[in-house]
Amino acid sequence: MTSATVLVVEDEPEIRRFLRASFDAEGYRVVESANGRRGVIDAGSHKPDLAIVDLGLPDVDGIDVIRRIREWSSMPVIVLSARAHERTKIEALDAGANDYITKPFGVGELLARVRAALRQRARLRGGGNLLRLGDAVIDLDRRMAARGREPLHLTPIEFRLLATLACHLGLVVTHRELLSEVWGPTHAKDTHYLRIYTKQLRDKLEADPVRPRYLITETGVGYRLLADE
Ligand code: CA
Repeated sequence: MTSATVLVVEDEPEIRRFLRASFDAEGYRVVESANGRRGVIDAGSHKPDLAIVDLGLPDVDGIDVIRRIREWSSMPVIVLSARAHERTKIEALDAGANDYITKPFGVGELLARVRAALRQRARLRGGGNLLRLGDAVIDLDRRMAARGREPLHLTPIEFRLLATLACHLGLVVTHRELLSEVWGPTHAKDTHYLRIYTKQLRDKLEADPVRPRYLITETGVGYRLLADE
């Protein structure tokens, strides 16, 4: 159980009800805002631990709500989007959202994203850079890796790519962010680098590189790293 407070900025009452019921059952406190302007005010007055923001709001664009929140807060923000358009997702992530969920979504997916976002905040405060991906263990601080009992050789670029994804463990990281962090801002558009290096990493880390469990492709947007607890 948790005592975290979640702000839900969503105009559709049915979705708000669903979200409240899902969060109540897990012990979260919920603050509901039925439009964007209210959401910005509630974000300031209730100081939630995390915000869920619908992009299709009646008064202002959800992306503007994220920008307003980001002016003063680094709380995790997860976007709800009915639009499957990749551009909108990327725009929301660039505006400061930490992840997105596409409607319709299930409660399991929702809670997993929320937990990942809250855990990520705790990780950033507390450190702890050991990744467990099945039988592979990666120590990001010491730049050492093993698979089973065998040492595993990862190149400096592979380590940097994993470290960048691990900074957002369980959350999506856009192509542009990965390329800028690992190769530098001048390579922000060289997405083929990512295709090559994620394939190499999957070959080294995944039990079945064709159906990865840990290094997940978010088509058109970026990649997401999952890890075992
Ligand atoms: Ca809506």
